[in-house]
Amino acid sequence: MGQPLPTSAYPNAATTLPCQACGGTALESFYELRNVPAHSCLLLPTRKEALAFPRGDIELVFCHDCGFIGNSRFDIGLNQYSAAYEETQAFSPRFLKFLDEICHDQIQKFALGPGMTALEIGCGKGEFLTRLCELSGCNGIGLDPGYHPERNQSSAAARITFIRDLYGPRYAHLKADYISCRHTLEHIGPVQEFMRLVRETIGKRQADVFFELPDMERVLETGVFWDVYYEHCTYFTRGSLARLFRAEGFDVQRLYKVYDGQYLMIEATPADGPTQARLPQEDDLETTAALVRKFRKEVDNRLAELTSAADRWRRSGQKVAIWGSGSKCVALMSSLDLGDSLRAIVDINPHKHGKFLAGSGWEIQGPNALAELRPDAVIIMNSIYTEEIRHELATRGLQPQLLPL
Ligand SMILES: [Zn+2]
Repeated sequence: MGQPLPTSAYPNAATTLPCQACGGTALESFYELRNVPAHSCLLLPTRKEALAFPRGDIELVFCHDCGFIGNSRFDIGLNQYSAAYEETQAFSPRFLKFLDEICHDQIQKFALGPGMTALEIGCGKGEFLTRLCELSGCNGIGLDPGYHPERNQSSAAARITFIRDLYGPRYAHLKADYISCRHTLEHIGPVQEFMRLVRETIGKRQADVFFELPDMERVLETGVFWDVYYEHCTYFTRGSLARLFRAEGFDVQRLYKVYDGQYLMIEATPADGPTQARLPQEDDLETTAALVRKFRKEVDNRLAELTSAADRWRRSGQKVAIWGSGSKCVALMSSLDLGDSLRAIVDINPHKHGKFLAGSGWEIQGPNALAELRPDAVIIMNSIYTEEIRHELATRGLQPQLLPL
């Protein structure tokens, strides 16, 4: 890391907060979105509530000291994580296969087995932790306010203590041989504090630590603006993530991407203090700074492509559906107007059907709704599910044009 650059070097510098990852002040503001829904996975029972859902602003700032990217306008007061939070992708066979692959990989790497304890911070509906305990025979502790005990039918659930709460200092006493935290860090504002607490939880003991989160390098490179949304207040590349871990007393063992490069994985062990960089893939501060500078232009390119597709569909009176009602969909809807062409938003998670999307107020339907609608085009919110969705459509006698994002 070089010397901090003076803040005045950046005409659009955010002056309100220091970097949430390193405390540095060389922050550069590079992307703004106003008035977007504050949550995208929280389901609303009525259209009225969905339309009236609280909104917030996004202003992404880049730290020239550590490479961290965060929303400087994030307001924790708008956060409402609860049992109504519906983030699970576990109704997708592709996703379940992925989950099994990670479980097998982690069990093998860390020799997880009976008598050991795996702790998962932000376990969601508990799919990963439950599968990990099923396959390894280890015991588990899962923390998440959105956990639903009635949905967990696994015999391994008896060996897992689920705590329906957010992780915090009151859980620093928990003991585990293995700590995982998947798709949670990106929802945390004070990430430095958070990593400090994880390190304190381990104390003088040994534990293997595994984090999984969206990779920001891909988002910056490709301008996929639907991957930037209010719920995600922090964004990491391999380098910025490793720097935070090392600064807070972890030795970074492995750093890699999976799931078509969408997810970033880090594996670390506790150290006595800050550690030195030793993985070549950490060295991305300059390339990230360059990507940050051209992000707005990349976003404009993506928007122009989608707007011209939307115009085409509108002119020819084509019917369009969106497949996937998660955060990416909410973010897309906030920036792109599909007008009358859009006829349905569907999702394979039955817990979402009949509920409403925050912001746009669209009702989420099951895929069967498409059999009647017979859409001409289907926008697929995550291209990794394209084949699975093509198959789902084919079983309903449908062969629409597919637009995987
Ligand atoms: Zn920083």
